[in-house]
Amino acid sequence: MFKEFNLDNFENSKKVLESKIKQSRADINALLDIEDKTYNNFAKPYQEIAEELNEFVTPIFHIDSVKNSKVTQKVQEECLPIISEYETEISQNEHVYSALKDIQYNHNSELKDIQNKYELNDEEIEVLLDNIHKVTSKNELKHTNISVNNKYLLNDIQYNTYRLLSTTQYMVIINENRDFKLGGCGLDDSLKGRLKDINLRLSELSNKFSQNLLDSTNEFEMIVDDFEDVNEIPQSDLEIAKFEENGKIKYKFTLQMPSYLAYITYGTSRVKREEIYKAYCTRAPENGKIINEILKLKYERSNILGFDNYAQYSISTKMAKSEHDVVNFLEELALKGKDGANKELKEVKALAKKIDNLSNLQNFDLAYYSEKLKKEKYDIDAEFYRPYFQQDSVLEGFFSFLNKLFNIKFVEKEVNSWDEKTKVYDILENDIIIARIFIDLESRKDKRGGAWMNNWHTHYINTKNEKQLPTAYIVCNFPPSTKETPSLLRHDDVVTLFHEMGHALHHLLSKVSEPFVSGISGVAWDVVEFPSQFLEYFAYDKDVLKMFAKHYQTGLVLDEESINRLISAKNFQSSLSLVRQVEFALFDFKLYQKLYKSEEEVQCLLDTIRDKFSVLKPPEYNKFQNGFAHIFSGGYSAGYYSYKWAEVLSADAFYLFLDSNIFNKELAQNYKNLILGKGGSVDMDKLFYELAKRNPSVDSLLKIDGIIS
Ligand SMILES: [Zn+2]
Repeated sequence: MFKEFNLDNFENSKKVLESKIKQSRADINALLDIEDKTYNNFAKPYQEIAEELNEFVTPIFHIDSVKNSKVTQKVQEECLPIISEYETEISQNEHVYSALKDIQYNHNSELKDIQNKYELNDEEIEVLLDNIHKVTSKNELKHTNISVNNKYLLNDIQYNTYRLLSTTQYMVIINENRDFKLGGCGLDDSLKGRLKDINLRLSELSNKFSQNLLDSTNEFEMIVDDFEDVNEIPQSDLEIAKFEENGKIKYKFTLQMPSYLAYITYGTSRVKREEIYKAYCTRAPENGKIINEILKLKYERSNILGFDNYAQYSISTKMAKSEHDVVNFLEELALKGKDGANKELKEVKALAKKIDNLSNLQNFDLAYYSEKLKKEKYDIDAEFYRPYFQQDSVLEGFFSFLNKLFNIKFVEKEVNSWDEKTKVYDILENDIIIARIFIDLESRKDKRGGAWMNNWHTHYINTKNEKQLPTAYIVCNFPPSTKETPSLLRHDDVVTLFHEMGHALHHLLSKVSEPFVSGISGVAWDVVEFPSQFLEYFAYDKDVLKMFAKHYQTGLVLDEESINRLISAKNFQSSLSLVRQVEFALFDFKLYQKLYKSEEEVQCLLDTIRDKFSVLKPPEYNKFQNGFAHIFSGGYSAGYYSYKWAEVLSADAFYLFLDSNIFNKELAQNYKNLILGKGGSVDMDKLFYELAKRNPSVDSLLKIDGIIS
């Protein structure tokens, strides 16, 4: 039922991959030879070819991240160029594109004929398509008397089944055709050539951008030789900073994140704080010119592809419908958060005044006094909580919670994986196995940092009409257990586990028949984080926490007061952080709405946004844009807003539960069937509407974060 995780022939992967790709190529060519192409004889097997290749490739990259060695690196490096070359080749294949376009065209014209002949409206057409799909998949067509809104019996309506697509199939086709088009298919050769040059130059520029940033991050160091200036820094950070020179103990801080954060948060000397802050936000000044070239090329590329600007290009694959929607959404958030942010800032200023008689708090003081304020207000000591979050009991409680909410059971299996600490579970729904998950929670030397979910198999019905079951991996870096001590988590770790499980369930609970829009496949980028952030909220719920927050030695459940402290600490300075995130997102989005031609114009845009929304204006030397790697060397251009966009959906969905009952069975069932079960087969705004019976509202997010009441 499930493919075994097997690396016996791992070192030979390159050879196997080459032969598999050869086979895929031959299979696709055979499909292209079919005279009368339909969804079933072309688009369906076309997806299956991709799925089968993916099944082989995923573990190769996965193993390099979780069990890294010289061998895994070598295999990865051998396979990567082969797979990218093949993917590029497929994405440029005009023959596949034209076959898929024909399938879309045939569907639409068949539909139009029926619509005209039988005078059906859009809603009736939808009913018709649904029913056609149901009966054809069961081969019961001849004997069915389904009425289309009481006008006709299905049998009366004459249509060509091979031309008509179900809504799910239609989604596959329009997504594919959109992506082929965005890749430049269908353009004439000179434009294609130009597009290729642009892409090449853009990838050079984005590498240069991050290289410059890295170089200037590594260039800087700040030496502190007076212990007075570091005496508040936590021991573990101080140990790392400490070194000896000419018999004297000194401390070195750099712009690497942990080191920078240690000084800006705990460094006592204001002069030193400004020194390191200034170094940080003036990094890579040469990136200013690179930004302008990137903007110009992205603008040109979006024009070639038929968009007015890059922002439009970006949202063409996202849930957001228009530029106006995104800007409005962000400005609404900022305006609603600004009062709170001012209040929070006032609190920090008051404390700075009280402790150090500081009357002109600056950006480089904010983290320092905020940390003191946080300690004064909540005094969250991670060490106090950890014994309550023993890994095994957290997992066990988490599974009971998921069982209560979604009616799914996790049953541990003794099967192969990549590490003895990895646990494997089958997921059962009404005693039937529906999915498998690999959970690898503890940090190891050979594991990449961070936490993530990786999908392996996808749920779908194959060309032989057999159901394929989905699988996924969850990887985290929690404290390792030893023979003597169990793995004790911080509450943040618990939240991370909930988050990644949210992604995993989005993939694993899919009921969709077509692989390209099943599970997390085909889900728009700005809503991918919806199910993961949704589940996170439960990790802060009292009733849920009580299901697993038990002291591993005494068995006592975490007390009410300590739970409350966790919850209120979560919202510490949430308005300030909201306003800051929105400032980044607005800058990112507006930057791509028209062509900004010089460094001055870019700066002017940033200043205008800061004037309007910042509560604590950064000093003029702050050139934040030169380090904004997310949008200039990552994939977030005109998409940084996605973080908040998805958060609004998750908060609003969670609020539905808060408003009724956190374990509301019917609501949970709906959430499971709609949001999780339908994967990428239906647009998320439609799914959300079906769940909530209204459009999402930003107020739930603001309420959950304590920004409004
Ligand atoms: Zn995530």
